[in-house]
Amino acid sequence: ARQFTRPLNDLANQFNVILSAVSGAERVFDVMDEEKEDKNDVEIKNRKRLKGKVEFQSVYFSYGQDDNTLNNVSFIVNPGDTVALVGPTGAGKTTVVSLLSKFYEVEKGKIMLDDQDINKMSRSGIRSQMGIVLQDSFLFDTTIKENIRYGRLDATDHQIITAAKSANAHTFISQLPDGYDTILDSNGYEISQGQRQLISIARAMLADPSLLILDEATSSIDTITEIKINEALTKLMKGRTSFVIAHRLNTIQHADLILVLQEGEVIEQGTHKELIKRNGFYAQLNASQNRAINE
Ligand code: ADP
Repeated sequence: ARQFTRPLNDLANQFNVILSAVSGAERVFDVMDEEKEDKNDVEIKNRKRLKGKVEFQSVYFSYGQDDNTLNNVSFIVNPGDTVALVGPTGAGKTTVVSLLSKFYEVEKGKIMLDDQDINKMSRSGIRSQMGIVLQDSFLFDTTIKENIRYGRLDATDHQIITAAKSANAHTFISQLPDGYDTILDSNGYEISQGQRQLISIARAMLADPSLLILDEATSSIDTITEIKINEALTKLMKGRTSFVIAHRLNTIQHADLILVLQEGEVIEQGTHKELIKRNGFYAQLNASQNRAINE
C-alpha cells in the first residue's frame, strides 16, 4: 500500500500548497501553472456549486513516450455517487484522479464535469470544489484550529468547531491540554495518525467540496479511532461525488461504481453485485482474498 500512496501524496501536497495560500487557490495556481489559463475559461468558481457528475469518454494518457498509462478509459459517475478504484499498484488509479484534477492534460478523449468539458473550465475552479483526504494526512506546523481553517480561510471559530464535531474530532481535541490551540509541530504535541486523519476530515468538512478524493487507511489504527474515521468519512462523502482508492472490501462492496483497473485499462466496471455475477477478474479477487484487494 505504501508504494501507491506516494503519487497521491504528491497530489495532496499540491492541494495543500493551494490551501496554504492566504489569497486562496486562484493566485497560487497562476504561479504554479506557468502557462495562463485559456482566455475563454468558464469561471466556475463564480458559478453555483457543481453537482458532481463525472464522465470519462475514451480517455488516453501517457506520462512520456511510454505506452499509454491510461488506455481508452470510459465511465460515468452520477452526482453524489461513490466510485471505488481497484487494481494493482501502477494500474492507473492515481492518474485517473490526477487527470480529473487537471494536473495533466488528456491526450485523446474527454473528461466531462457536469456535462462540460474540463478543458473549458479553470483548474482553480475545479480544485476549489474538490477535497482530498489521505491516510498520511498532511498537516501544517501550526495549531489544530488553523489546520482545520485551511479548509475555508474565512471560517469562524464556531464553524471550525462544528466541522470538528461532525468529523468526530472535537472530543479528542477538547481533551488536549491546549485544545484547539494545540500546536502540531515536531516539538509540539504528539497526536496519532488516526487523529491526524480526523483533523484532515474536519478540514474537508469545512471546505464543503462537491468532489472528494479519498485514500483509505491501510496502516494499523486502533479500532475505536478507525470506527470514528469510518463514521466521519461516511458523513463527509454523503452528497458528494467521491473517488476512493479503496483497500477495504466493505467500502468496495458498497460503492455505486467499482472500476477495476489493470495496466491502464478499465477491465471491468459495475457494482459489486454485477461484477460478482459477471464472474471475471473482480469475482476471482473477491473470492481469493477477503482482506485488501489492492495488493
Ligand atoms: P496506481 O495509482 O494505480 O498505483 P498510477 O496512476 O500512480 O497507478 O501509475 C500508473 C503508471 O504511471 C505507473 O506505471 C506509474 O509508474 C506511472 N506514473 C505515475 N505517475 C507518474 C509520473 N509523474 N511520471 C511518470 N510516470 C508516472
